[in-house]
Amino acid sequence: MAKIAIIGGGYTGLTAAYRLTKLGHQVHVFERGSEVGGLAADFTVAGAHLEKTYHHLFRTDTDIIGLTAELGIEDTLGWHTGSLKTYYNHRLHDFSTPVDLLKFTPLPLWDRIRTALVALYLNRTKNWRQFVDVSAYEWMKKFNGRRAAQVIWEPLLKGKFDERYKEVSMAWLWARLHIRSRSRRPGEMKEKLGYFAGGFHTFTRALVEKITAQGGTIHTGAEVTSIAEHKDGVSVTVDGTEAVFDRLLATVPSHVFADLAGPGLASEYRDRLAGIDYLGAVVMVFTSEQKIGDAYWYNINDLTKPFLVFINHTNLIDRRNYAGRYVYYIGTYRPHEHRSFTLSDDQLSDEWFTELARIFPEFDRDKIEERHIFRLKNAQHIVTTDYEDRIPAMQTPLKHVWLANFSQIYPEDRGTNYAVREGTKAAQLITDSLAP
Ligand SMILES: Cc1cc2nc3c(=O)[nH]c(=O)nc-3n(C[C@H](O)[C@H](O)[C@H](O)COP(=O)(O)OP(=O)(O)OC[C@H]3O[C@@H](n4cnc5c(N)ncnc54)[C@H](O)[C@@H]3O)c2cc1C
Repeated sequence: MAKIAIIGGGYTGLTAAYRLTKLGHQVHVFERGSEVGGLAADFTVAGAHLEKTYHHLFRTDTDIIGLTAELGIEDTLGWHTGSLKTYYNHRLHDFSTPVDLLKFTPLPLWDRIRTALVALYLNRTKNWRQFVDVSAYEWMKKFNGRRAAQVIWEPLLKGKFDERYKEVSMAWLWARLHIRSRSRRPGEMKEKLGYFAGGFHTFTRALVEKITAQGGTIHTGAEVTSIAEHKDGVSVTVDGTEAVFDRLLATVPSHVFADLAGPGLASEYRDRLAGIDYLGAVVMVFTSEQKIGDAYWYNINDLTKPFLVFINHTNLIDRRNYAGRYVYYIGTYRPHEHRSFTLSDDQLSDEWFTELARIFPEFDRDKIEERHIFRLKNAQHIVTTDYEDRIPAMQTPLKHVWLANFSQIYPEDRGTNYAVREGTKAAQLITDSLAP
């Protein structure tokens, strides 16, 4: 059996660790943070586990649903009715069902019909290759009309990709819309969203328990600072101490991997890694005794507002799980140099709460009980129209080293389901490489 190191204790790394320990390999996971879970990691709010960044599953997330069953925790995955509203031109509009789209008054009737027909086409067509080198914004402008592109797509794309939004591939947007529409069962008007009893912590804990029961070791607070080819495999340095492994899987962002590997990495592969740009995410969680809004998810389609999304988590999950408190998220994606990464928590809250009160005049700041702000780097990569040709392979030029991170997922949007899929794939490649 081989000695295998995994860098990163997010869902990609944990899934690979689970698969490889199941086969009897001696696996060590090195996670820089104080806890595992990566972008889906949780913290405690109102006495309960909650993701630092809003998370739910779709029915099409079959890889993570399958692993949930394999871990024996399928009973904890519940399906809840989601609801969506869009804030545009100082008003909230229902946006949960196709009928809501037809009633969306910020667009003239013909634009609404056109938008609905385009949505139907994207739902039906499987030929996403036609969209690879096409800008999502330009495509939507052409087929939905200029006004629909400005009202619906520009705020959504800009909210997710900031100033780079016009470069984003239509293949990425196709995948988001297509997969999401497939997640609805026939006749289901509103979509059902998956969430674990006890939060995603339940899934993380089940994985960790299996990995350790199967003989794996998880090291938290263990930042890998370099890796190098070694005559017998690959060496990994953590806290100044070097250890040699037969195989290594890195699940860190692409540019982080380039830094870890240093000059030993072939330049063509290094250039691919360096060419992938990431945005950060800034997310606020707060609890209140006040109910704000009757929907789960609010897209903020107003480019003057400093955030992309407002979520009333307790309109999806019963607030009795949070000591009766209402739980809210506000979030946005920004470049790492954006001021939201340097403002103090109080300054950021002042700005965001002032704007929230303009959307929900009933919002009362004095009723807030807990407030937490998370700033995550490398939260979303920018999927440009030439992206497919620039994706780095899982097998790196270093003989005993594999890379699996969400920048290799294409055309789907990154998500926990694909972390499970890619972690499984990487474990299989490593297993194959060990075959006599
Ligand atoms: C705001 C937001 C909302 C999201 N919502 C959803 C959702 O609703 N549904 C969904 O399915 N997905 C959602 N996602 C995406 C999902 O969280 C990610 O796709 C998934 O968790 C990625 O897992 P990963 O293991 O590939 O990467 P990561 O979670 O990024 O894990 C990588 C790990 O590597 C560690 N690391 C980095 N450098 C080092 C080093 N040098 N040494 C040791 N460790 C290191 C990091 O600390 C991290 O834990 C969301 C993401 C964000 C940011």
